[in-house]
Amino acid sequence: MSYFDYAATQPMRQSAIDAWVAASGQLNAGAQYASGRKARSVLDDARETVAELLGCEPIEVVFTASGTEADNIAVQGLFHASAEQPGAGRIISTPIEHSAVRDTVARLEADHGATVDLLPVGRDGHIEDLTALDTPAAVATSMWANNETGAIQPVEDIVKRAAAVGTPVHVDAVQVVGKLPINFHELGAATLAASAHKFGGPRGIGLLLAKRTPAPRPLMFGGGQERGIRPGTNDVAGASGLAAALQESLAQLEQESAQILHLRNTLREGIVASIDDVIVNTVEPSLDTHLHVSFPGTDGDSLIMLLDQRGIEAATGSACHAGVNRMSHVLEAMGVADEQGRGSLRFTLGRLTTEDDVKQLLAVLPEVVSLARSV
Ligand code: PLP
Repeated sequence: MSYFDYAATQPMRQSAIDAWVAASGQLNAGAQYASGRKARSVLDDARETVAELLGCEPIEVVFTASGTEADNIAVQGLFHASAEQPGAGRIISTPIEHSAVRDTVARLEADHGATVDLLPVGRDGHIEDLTALDTPAAVATSMWANNETGAIQPVEDIVKRAAAVGTPVHVDAVQVVGKLPINFHELGAATLAASAHKFGGPRGIGLLLAKRTPAPRPLMFGGGQERGIRPGTNDVAGASGLAAALQESLAQLEQESAQILHLRNTLREGIVASIDDVIVNTVEPSLDTHLHVSFPGTDGDSLIMLLDQRGIEAATGSACHAGVNRMSHVLEAMGVADEQGRGSLRFTLGRLTTEDDVKQLLAVLPEVVSLARSV
């Protein structure tokens, strides 16, 4: 089996498994007695490691259950926290957000009457006009890199421009953390979301970095853990696994990136050379891990199924459209015509991808595309 869906999730790193297992016997990190203090110190170690690696203070690290949860807390929480501020009721977002942000913004629009302005995106998948940020909003939210194309967005410029009028910014960095160096304080965003399973940590634990002020207004209420922003008894083992995976990802970053980039480029050149009428939707600056390609005359589900039958796992990258033969909202925002973009695949590579995986994919893809085109 060759796995080309690293952007969806990836195998846990051994260091993360070891850290998870070592911490799995810990009890309640909120308790005052000895076992609680021990659990608390393991949790604090994880929090300090994350803070050091991502350029923030330990108090700004909020452990969540997923990237989705971190995005929800940030976008809804900042929106509600700004109810008395200039720009209250207005959200600035982009048309290429993951559903964790996109559906949250839509819900604020439907249930709370939010007005939403979207920063336009060019054919290359990059946000191209920041003018909407010059008018205050309750919150501006942008992904750092797109999950389908891998396109890296100008988040530094977005944060600066929004800061000039006092708009807090949430950055969905779920695809970026562990793959690019990040310094939360230098970036200056109010909040930033990440997810452990995207960089080799356990599934079921995520991160929200949240400045002291403006802090998101809590959506859930309970025991007051995680500054009351994400209450509930802590998952100490998950936090330890996350911290270990982040440490290894960043320590290995240069070496892993070079290897992944080389394989990704080999794959792109092989596809373009062996298949007619191919559109490459991943345009620089992009993550080294991503290659998003359209094969006009096919549909994404047939391509996925035909590849699966041949032992290759790839996806369209668009969770909300899985099983529905429609072009993704990301390609639509890029101005791709439906007949061009309907048959698209996202290949995402990772630290365990080999030359043989790429060879195997290149050996079967021309036949798969021509079969899908003949239906
Ligand atoms: N945001 C982006 C950009 C993503 O790619 C994903 C997952 O694919 C998420 C948010 C959601 O993360 P999680 O799977 O941890 O809920």
